[in-house]
Amino acid sequence: MSETKVIDGKKFASALSAKIKSETRKLYNKHKIVPGLAVVLVGEDPASQVYVRRKGEQTKELGMQSFEHKLSKSVKETELLKLVRQLNEDHSVNGILVQLPLPKHIDEKEVLKAISPEKDVDGFHTTNVGRLWTGSESLTPCTPFGCLLLLKGCLGSLVGLNATIIGRSNIVGKPIAALLLAENCTVTIAHSKTENLEQKCKNADILIAAVGRPNMVKSSWVKKGATVIDVGINRIAAPERGKGKTKIVGDVDFNDCYPIAGQITPVPGGVGPMTIACLLRNTLVATYRQANLAPPAI
Ligand code: NDP
Repeated sequence: MSETKVIDGKKFASALSAKIKSETRKLYNKHKIVPGLAVVLVGEDPASQVYVRRKGEQTKELGMQSFEHKLSKSVKETELLKLVRQLNEDHSVNGILVQLPLPKHIDEKEVLKAISPEKDVDGFHTTNVGRLWTGSESLTPCTPFGCLLLLKGCLGSLVGLNATIIGRSNIVGKPIAALLLAENCTVTIAHSKTENLEQKCKNADILIAAVGRPNMVKSSWVKKGATVIDVGINRIAAPERGKGKTKIVGDVDFNDCYPIAGQITPVPGGVGPMTIACLLRNTLVATYRQANLAPPAI
C-alpha cells in the first residue's frame, strides 16, 4: 500500500495541534490569556465519556484550560440551560461544547440555541450556520472543517472540482457542502432519496461519505483517481478477531476502493483525529475574537 495514497489523519491532526499549541503559548506570552473550553456531559453514555475524557486531555496538552461539567441523565432541561447561561457569562470560558446526544427529555435545539454564538465551538448554533452559508466570519463545525483541511492539504486548490457528499445532516453533510462551495467546488449533496447515487458518486473528483452505513461505497462508485473522504464510524461484528469481537469501519469499502482512488482516508485514522484538533482550533479562534484580537491563520 502506498503511504502517500492513504491520507494519514493522525499526521495532519498532530501538525495542526502543534500550531495550536504554539499560538496558544504566544497568546499567553503577549496578552496573558489562556483559552478555556467547557465541556458539558449529561448522563453516562460510555462512548460520550470517552470523547469527553479525550477532549479534556488534549485541551490541557495544548496549554488550554479544560472545564468539565458532568450532569446526571435525569437533569432537568432548565438546569442544563442555567449552566449554559452561566458558562456564557464566565470570562474564563471561551468555548462551550455540550456533548451530544442528550437524553430524550431534553430538547437539543433549545440547548444549542442557548449557547452564545461567540462561544459555540461546535458551530451548531443557527447564527453560525447562517454565517457559514453567507460567507461571514463563523465558528465552523469541527468534523467538516477537518475534512476541508485534509482535502486542501492533499489537493491544494479545490477550484472547479466536482464534489459529491453522501449525507445531508446538519452536523456533517450540509456544513461540508457549504465549505466546498466556498472553495468553488461544484457540489452535489446526496441522501437516502437520491436516485442513481452510484452515477452521482462516479462523477466526483472528491467523494465524501457521511452516512453511517458500513462499507456502503464500492469501487464501482469511485472515479479513477478521485479523492475519497470517509467520515463514517460504524461498529460491526469481527468474528475473525474472536467470538463476540467488534471493529470500527467506515462508510467506504476501503480495500475495494483503494486501487481506484487517487487518495483515500482510512477508518480509523482518517477524519476522526481531525475532529478534536479542529475543536481546539475553534476554541483558540474564539478566544482571540473575544479579546478583540485577529486570530492566527490556522
Ligand atoms: P445522520 O444519520 O444524521 O445522517 C446520515 C445521512 O446519510 C442522512 O442525510 C441520510 O439521508 C443519508 N443516508 C442514509 N442512508 C442512505 C443511503 N442508503 N443512501 C444515501 N444516503 C443515505 O448521520 P451523521 O451525519 O451524524 O453521521 C454520518 C456518519 O459520520 C456516521 O457514521 C457518524 O458516526 C459519523 N461521524 C463521524 C465523525 C468523525 O469525527 N469522524 C463525527 C460525526 C459523525 P436522509 O437525510 O435522507 O435521511
